Amino acid sequence: MPLIDTDIAIVGAGIAGIATAYYLADKHGRRDLVLLDAGQPMGLTTAQSGENYRDWWPHPTMVAFTGHSIGRMEQIACDTDNAIHLTRRGYLLATRRGTTQALVEQLLAGYGSDAGERVRLHDADRGDYEAPSSVPWERAPGGIDVIANRALIARHFPGLDPDVSTLLHLRRAGDLSAQQLGQYMLDRIKALGGRLRRVCLRAIENDGAFELVLSEGEGNGGESGRIRCRTLVNAAGPFLNRVAGMLDVALPVENLLQQKIAFEDRAGVVQRQTPFTVDLDSQCLDWNSEERDLLAGSEQTSWLTRALPGGIHCRPEGGQQGTWVKLGWAYNQTASAPHREPPLDAYFPDVVLRGAAALRPGLRAYYGRLPRPFAHYSGYYTMTRDNWPLVGPLGVKGSFVVGALSGFGTMAACAAGELCADWVADAPLPDYAQDLSLARYRNKTLMAELAAMASRGVL
Ligand SMILES: Cc1cc2nc3c(=O)[nH]c(=O)nc-3n(C[C@H](O)[C@H](O)[C@H](O)COP(=O)(O)OP(=O)(O)OC[C@H]3O[C@@H](n4cnc5c(N)ncnc54)[C@H](O)[C@@H]3O)c2cc1C
Repeated sequence: MPLIDTDIAIVGAGIAGIATAYYLADKHGRRDLVLLDAGQPMGLTTAQSGENYRDWWPHPTMVAFTGHSIGRMEQIACDTDNAIHLTRRGYLLATRRGTTQALVEQLLAGYGSDAGERVRLHDADRGDYEAPSSVPWERAPGGIDVIANRALIARHFPGLDPDVSTLLHLRRAGDLSAQQLGQYMLDRIKALGGRLRRVCLRAIENDGAFELVLSEGEGNGGESGRIRCRTLVNAAGPFLNRVAGMLDVALPVENLLQQKIAFEDRAGVVQRQTPFTVDLDSQCLDWNSEERDLLAGSEQTSWLTRALPGGIHCRPEGGQQGTWVKLGWAYNQTASAPHREPPLDAYFPDVVLRGAAALRPGLRAYYGRLPRPFAHYSGYYTMTRDNWPLVGPLGVKGSFVVGALSGFGTMAACAAGELCADWVADAPLPDYAQDLSLARYRNKTLMAELAAMASRGVL
């Protein structure tokens, strides 16, 4: 590959890099750009996304950021006759805790001053709760329904653990196709003159401009070419720090491996119109005494017999006519070095199935007989300790970062890409820009506030 000279090079054609290129080209007219990736576009973390979105977070900054992103997705859905398959059946957050007070307070804290208008309490069956349905997303309601009445829960969501006493139904939430969203943006980038190259970045030389040293494909060979650019965007997902390190920058991010499974729900346990449902309560898994003794006897597996955190989730996959369900549980809190082919934990399918059966007891039908073939996949939540993204200047003149999108990169891609593009173009920035950049680590008040928060919004 000969030397390419370009205005902007973006390392990483995951959803973050693609969205950044899209807003640079489409919003700011910066079309002399090259997106480079060692693999297929959207082939690494983006390919593993559960593709869910929600507008609720425990802090107003993240509410504003993701709210903006969802608005952008909704606009794209309108412009493309919903090519991105946006739905809005909501998120259901379930708990057996007797009082809803703490939960409602968390909601209010996240939504800030207009929270009161968004929350509707249903503590009796008055017929004013609008059940989720497969109507076009534009016709689904917004706000949040707090359902604190067991009869109402049982009527609308049969099959949930009868001990569930409260459901929070977040309404501006649902799922979409991340691949279709990225493809729409890629087509537009190419139409506007942007280029995509399948090469691996090996090193960066910086003499005022950047010279990127490249090798073919996944980067096993020697140097195969160079790109010279004035502006560099690091959108390398789990390899954010490897790329930052080429400029002698260390980013405060780490990678946590997370997994999901999907299988055909042959017994029809999960109703197709059910929203993405999260069990907020911690739990001990449902082993029989023989299994428990066996697991407890080994250092490697004894953790499976202790209390595990809340957050197990389940949703129907493939729309109203589909038959598959997807289960996930982001319980891993131990960071690891990223690999292009993330490992799979052999215990996970059984663990997540049993965890989900606490919320939906009908899933016990699949203990020891998970329908085959089933899909088991994994990827990294690339995270800061506060679980906020990093978007903005990287610390070396002319370089920027867009990443640390943890478990929210699909839903936040539009806002993250637009924000990074605004930084690059030196355009006016939204209110949340400084707090989502590296500058927040110098803001002691904000850091103390984030450290004191009960939830980081990991679901
Ligand atoms: C199991 C799981 C479930 C998830 N579920 C959801 C969900 O329901 N909703 C949601 O919003 N988000 C979800 N996410 C999060 C979301 O998938 C990620 O935040 C998002 O995909 C990150 O995108 P990215 O572009 O930053 O990273 P990536 O998609 O990993 O892209 C980075 C790209 O950089 C390339 N690259 C890296 N280094 C180099 C180099 N040196 N040279 C060339 N190329 C390089 C890689 O090949 C890769 O393609 C989930 C994540 C996981 C793991």
